[in-house]
Amino acid sequence: MSEKEKEKREVMQNAPAKEDSTAEAQDRAFMSLALAQAALAAEAGDVPVGAVLVCRENGQYRVLAEGHNTKEREGTALGHAEMNAIAAACRERQGWRLSDCTLYVTMEPCPMCAGAILGARIPRVVCGTKDPVMGAMGSVWSLHRHPVQGEGADVTCGCMEAACRAQLQAFFQARREAGKATAQENDNALINHLKRTKKPYTVLPD
Ligand SMILES: [Zn+2]
Repeated sequence: MSEKEKEKREVMQNAPAKEDSTAEAQDRAFMSLALAQAALAAEAGDVPVGAVLVCRENGQYRVLAEGHNTKEREGTALGHAEMNAIAAACRERQGWRLSDCTLYVTMEPCPMCAGAILGARIPRVVCGTKDPVMGAMGSVWSLHRHPVQGEGADVTCGCMEAACRAQLQAFFQARREAGKATAQENDNALINHLKRTKKPYTVLPD
């Protein structure tokens, strides 16, 4: 085999792996920004969830907007990281359509955020950790794949999962130690525990 052929063969063998690792490295880089956003939420006493919207302009990726959870700080149920990032992006764009964007979020979106993501026509979502309690993009619900939802969204979970999960766990652990866990958090902890241990459970109505 000639040197040239060898070279060509090597390139062909390595090409897919190289491409994948570049795409994955890029996803991790943007997820790191989402993690930094999540840390801002925790500093203000909110559950650490962060989101970053990245768009593609002239062949380059650009951070269009960032957001973090401000539910407690601003006293609004609408203050999820994804909602804040989408709202900021729409203000920046002066329009609602984000069909050229990828959303990076440290935790799987809830039904409200999944609705906003689909409404904004965001075609790709990269999540850190899954949410077994309220996750609406693959865990509890799969709104992005609902039959009436047309094309839906392409969802990838598990990007920097360990870091995203550790950040949430550290926050809840600190809250429990400080005796500040809410009844809902205690319920969620119990549901998660039961799911992990695969024991049957029933959630009784209030
Ligand atoms: Zn949400």
